[in-house]
Amino acid sequence: MDNKTPISILSEEFSKLPGIGSKTAMRMAYFYVHHKHNIQPLINALEKVSSNLDKCVICNIITNKNSNPCQYCADEMRNKNLICIVENDTDVEHIEKSNSFKGVYHILGGLISPLSNISSNDIELLSLKKRLDGSTDNFEIIIATNFTTEGEATGLFIRQYLKDFNNIKFSRLASGLPFGSNLEYVDSYTIGKAIDRRIEYDS
Ligand SMILES: [Zn+2]
Repeated sequence: MDNKTPISILSEEFSKLPGIGSKTAMRMAYFYVHHKHNIQPLINALEKVSSNLDKCVICNIITNKNSNPCQYCADEMRNKNLICIVENDTDVEHIEKSNSFKGVYHILGGLISPLSNISSNDIELLSLKKRLDGSTDNFEIIIATNFTTEGEATGLFIRQYLKDFNNIKFSRLASGLPFGSNLEYVDSYTIGKAIDRRIEYDS
């Protein structure tokens, strides 16, 4: 029989959030016990997310259920053969702010990280391959993962993973972004420059 307390059930849910450890999760749970008027707005917000939002069927970005494919994939003016690969949705927001990219995106939903037990099967690679399968068009894929060990390893893995496609040119964001950079903390001007001056991967 499950005899967990309501508090421990709630704090367990909070501890699933990125960056939230068990102590913080417990504090968050107690916050709601002490501030019950905040509970219903949270429930409403979660329900809206659950009923209105979905992943784009093409690029995995979060989009409204009634506009899927997303605004970028559905945009006729965007170059569908220029695909920028990023870790998550917030990276897309950053790149969009730079106003320097008119292609489409592919959201991986994570980076390969043996230390955190995240393997290539845990990120959106199969859906990337499906996008490219069967097309005879030429593509350019910009690897725009973070300049960290995980970001670099994931970029290299993607190149290997897609090596049988000879219609793909790979590039990486240019220098100006120091090693260790997390795109989230880089200003949009620098991101824009890094896209403009992207460099082709040696094959
Ligand atoms: Zn999309």
